[in-house]
Amino acid sequence: MTDKAIGDRLEIWRGDIARLKVDAIVNAANSSLLGGGGVDGAIHRAAGKELLAKCRAIGGCPVGEARITLGYHLPARYVIHTVGPVYKGTVQDAILLSQCYENSLRLAAQYHLSSIAFPAISCGAYRYPIEKASKIAIDTCLKAMDDLPDIHRIIFVLFSDKNHAIYQSSLELILKDLMAVPVL
Ligand code: ADP
Repeated sequence: MTDKAIGDRLEIWRGDIARLKVDAIVNAANSSLLGGGGVDGAIHRAAGKELLAKCRAIGGCPVGEARITLGYHLPARYVIHTVGPVYKGTVQDAILLSQCYENSLRLAAQYHLSSIAFPAISCGAYRYPIEKASKIAIDTCLKAMDDLPDIHRIIFVLFSDKNHAIYQSSLELILKDLMAVPVL
């Protein structure tokens, strides 16, 4: 994949994910799916009580997996709920965080969605260091995109200028590595 093709499909934005009009926004939920603080609270507030009723009917979601609902009063058509790991500093954290991104993308593809927005899963209450998490998020999405040609846009949405800048430098580093020509 060329630099341009990657750049065309991956974007980094700053703002409130609940305001985005895309096919699906991803919720960094907890395993009960019954709502919480942070991005989960913002999404439930904007979507309305129908979302909570639907999540209650789903009955929970294990860490690393994803579930889909309508977006109800959100501008986004769907919400993909995924449950990130609580950061403990183990290899398992990275595997589970990567599964959140991959399973969310696969679910979006199953529903024939083409645009999806992710928050920084696990980087709030679950304390995953944003530098490490941003690399996992970008790496996983780049790899999965090769397999999922119908996903045209992946938007990473960061709430703060600081986290936005960290994601941008992670993306630059990863693209630089991808484009590096091996010296013979
Ligand atoms: P987790 O429990 O997975 O850590 P949090 O919701 O606590 O999830 O935080 C995840 C990230 O989402 C944090 O970086 C937080 O700043 C960010 N965040 C909080 N509200 C929003 C929002 N409305 N839009 C986008 N990102 C948000």
